[in-house]
Amino acid sequence: MCHILCASMTESEMKPETTRFAPSPTGRLHLGHAYSALFAERLARKSGGRFLLRIEDIDTGRSRPEHEAAICEDLAWLGLSWEQPVWRQSARLPHYRAALDRLDAAGLLYPCFCTRKMIRAEIAAIGQAPHLSVSGPDGPIYPGTCRELGKEARASRIAAGDPFALRLNMARAISQAMSMAGEISWRDRREGPQAMRADIFGDIVIARKDVPVSYHLAVTIDDAAQGVSLVTRGADLLPASHIHRLLQALLDLPVPDWHHHPILRDQDGNRLAKRLSSVSLADLREGGKSPGWVRETVAELAADAAPI
Ligand code: GLU
Repeated sequence: MCHILCASMTESEMKPETTRFAPSPTGRLHLGHAYSALFAERLARKSGGRFLLRIEDIDTGRSRPEHEAAICEDLAWLGLSWEQPVWRQSARLPHYRAALDRLDAAGLLYPCFCTRKMIRAEIAAIGQAPHLSVSGPDGPIYPGTCRELGKEARASRIAAGDPFALRLNMARAISQAMSMAGEISWRDRREGPQAMRADIFGDIVIARKDVPVSYHLAVTIDDAAQGVSLVTRGADLLPASHIHRLLQALLDLPVPDWHHHPILRDQDGNRLAKRLSSVSLADLREGGKSPGWVRETVAELAADAAPI
């Protein structure tokens, strides 16, 4: 089956692609995951490239080895195979640390001691002046409270052992990246050329209080380190790619192409119905469904523009 995907490809896009499926082992896989994994694998195979599985287990509080084993079992049952060894993000913390050190040395990070409750209160206070309260793709933008802390206040809070996250000073990061690279853009194979707009997120957390790195930094570093040439994932993550593109510019990383596929919708055009989205691949398998049934079902549900 070729469909729109092949028809819309230029010759240069038929070069061997390295794609990856990068689940977090925090639960069982569902139909939406099956679609995403099949989609990535198909683009790699069709181009004669490589398909990788990466386990994104930096959130040690929520990740479980048994979920990782179940993910591999489900993907193998679907008929997928991937390159070995499989990378685990929990084994790559020194690489993320090195990138954080580099961003810090460039003066782009600051410690943030705020709790969620404090941020909510601060935003509520700003809410009285609505022009100052802005929302980004992940919700209200951090109001910048700790960005304004003086050197001494910072040092004494760190010395006192107050837990802190690290935030990226977004305005400074963008101006530094643009002074090095000029206008920064990227390309989504479905949505077309994109001008980098990481500013819409405000000062993002780049290392959490409880986890020494954020999703954004880990995924950007690993995609580059693994030579991923085409990042595929659901359209809900398209805005995040603005941040990843900015980090690539700041850290001199190669720039891949992206293909954000639509989120599976049911026949009525709604996000996949609870009935289907809450059923795991393991439940389907135990209920007698075959891998062929899963492939056909996701192909049918994805029929709008990104067939597999
Ligand atoms: N670990 C992320 C998730 O499960 C992967 C997102 C991505 O493909 O970049 O949502």
